Amino acid sequence: MGCTIGIDLGTTNSCMAISEGGDPVVIQTGEGPRVMPSVVAFTPAGDRLVGIVAKRQAITNPKDTITSIKRLMGRKYDELEMGSDAVSYDIVPNEKGDAVVRISDGRTFTPQEISSMILQKMKYRAEEFLGEEVTDVVVTVPAHFNEVQRKATKAACTIAGLNVKRVLNEPTAAALAFMEPVEKKRIAVYDFGGGTFDISILQMVDGVFEVKATTGNTQLGGDDFDSRLVEWIMNEFERTTGIDLWKDPVAPQRVREAAERAKCELSTAMETTINLPFIASGGSGPVHLEMSVTRKLFEDLIMDLVESSRPLCEQVVRDAGMTIDDLDTVVLVGGSTRIPLVRKLVEETFRREPVYSVNPDEVVAMGAAIAGAVVTGQRKDLVLLDVTSLTLGVETLGGVMAPIIEKNSPLPIKRSRMFTTAVDNQQVVSIHVLQGERALAEENRSLAKFDLVGISPAPRGVPRIEVSFSIDANGILFVSAKDAVTGKKQEMKINPSGGLSDDEINRLIQEANKNKEADRERTKLIEVRNRADHSIYEAAKLLASNKTTLDEDSVHELESALDDLRRARDGDDKDAIENAMKELGMVVHTVRNILNMVETFEDDTGGLGNLDGGTLGEALGETLIE
Ligand code: AMP
Repeated sequence: MGCTIGIDLGTTNSCMAISEGGDPVVIQTGEGPRVMPSVVAFTPAGDRLVGIVAKRQAITNPKDTITSIKRLMGRKYDELEMGSDAVSYDIVPNEKGDAVVRISDGRTFTPQEISSMILQKMKYRAEEFLGEEVTDVVVTVPAHFNEVQRKATKAACTIAGLNVKRVLNEPTAAALAFMEPVEKKRIAVYDFGGGTFDISILQMVDGVFEVKATTGNTQLGGDDFDSRLVEWIMNEFERTTGIDLWKDPVAPQRVREAAERAKCELSTAMETTINLPFIASGGSGPVHLEMSVTRKLFEDLIMDLVESSRPLCEQVVRDAGMTIDDLDTVVLVGGSTRIPLVRKLVEETFRREPVYSVNPDEVVAMGAAIAGAVVTGQRKDLVLLDVTSLTLGVETLGGVMAPIIEKNSPLPIKRSRMFTTAVDNQQVVSIHVLQGERALAEENRSLAKFDLVGISPAPRGVPRIEVSFSIDANGILFVSAKDAVTGKKQEMKINPSGGLSDDEINRLIQEANKNKEADRERTKLIEVRNRADHSIYEAAKLLASNKTTLDEDSVHELESALDDLRRARDGDDKDAIENAMKELGMVVHTVRNILNMVETFEDDTGGLGNLDGGTLGEALGETLIE
């Protein structure tokens, strides 16, 4: 049986882990860091880049570099609250009104497709790491994700060829990574990431791990802090130079990157400078951007955003039926919890110093891997009980929402409620399934609508219609409506795909499969090109610093091997690049030998100044043949 990996599909970065003997181990992404940027880019040359290579070229290709896609998952275009500056690519509604990405050649991609590209790369990396095919995953989502967003995440996995064993709430995963099953503990997980904020209360008693309550804001995260800083920089720049950088096609992306860097620096430094040379051109030549930002100023800019998490913390403790003093620990998760102001708020709100792991970016994936071990039976000392994060109900007369499953109900769950008709002889009732905490139907998220037909004619208020909701352990909702008199029943699995139909998902799976080999080849080509760039850089450096020391033939050989590799690197033939790299490697090896000999010779003779080239060549000739 293959292994189940845990995937944290993050707004900014994604991470994956595997459970080895029940203990989680992070899987290297193969690109150095243990997390992979959740970035997909489409280059003018037709390449599709994912991860660090995509992030690196973001500045020069802002319109076709897709970041923070998680914020669009399962969302209608009209619902978006993202600031217009939050991302540099175009977001448009598709024919269903869902938010989709449009790149500059006019192609559009659903957030599920973009996410599946990230997942596909992760799958590929995991397979390389483990040496076997990977299909089963536990994938995490913010606790506050609604049904549509969860199903969109599942659909992304399906398109990437992954079989989702469980959709796990991120704070649950984080708490799992922090807790030992023997302990009895009540813990709050304060999770502030790049795009979302979640706060959850969990309890562990004798290995039974139960989420008591959870809440959050899916539209609040570190990206918003960046936006505030970007706004300030833009205004300052316009105030001092009169230049509006928003009009420039590239500058906003450069400013955004610099703002994020400055934000991270301000987590440890009290002041930092933002330096962007040649950001614009004015009447008297190029204009540079140089500003200093203090931590105090940054804190003023983000204060209200950070503060907005406080009432949610207070509410979740109440929802769990506890007081702050009942809690044993507060755990910090997510990159934004590195900000001192955020830590201070947590400390004030929970009246204790929070604990944080060395790697807040990895704990969610590690917890997901532990959950994978629980789901597959590898770990039997733990039982996971999750809760629904939002209330589910149906619309009733006057547009009022009637709750059927309250938020924070433990999963899996089945609940029913009786309804009746609103007018005499009504033969059809419309079941409008809603999710959210508002009293009015229209203010909640509409999940689905279906009709129960053939109700036997009767005065209003007489028919008895039983509406049942059941949610499985993954948070997937099934709804049925039954006429208690006729026994007529109508059932549905709610929106199985988060905006995509089954047919659309199947088509995308086929496309992804069709492209899989091509993508792998393409990925390999890009990796070989990266290695070639590195070899070129090293060899060029070697040449530049030793040109005067080396004999003419060696210089010529090195130059020509370098040219060959540069030419091959610009082509599409992977073997040709590898061969040229090998050739260059041999020449570099030879040259290094020569240089070593020169050094030895220098040591023996006390300097080369009085030797002519011929003597050196002869002296080294013997060594080379050997
Ligand atoms: P996550 O979604 O958990 O990967 O968190 C990513 C968010 O954390 C992004 O908005 C990052 O800019 C932010 N972040 C990462 N490191 C730091 C830091 N040292 N200080 C402030 N924010 C950070």
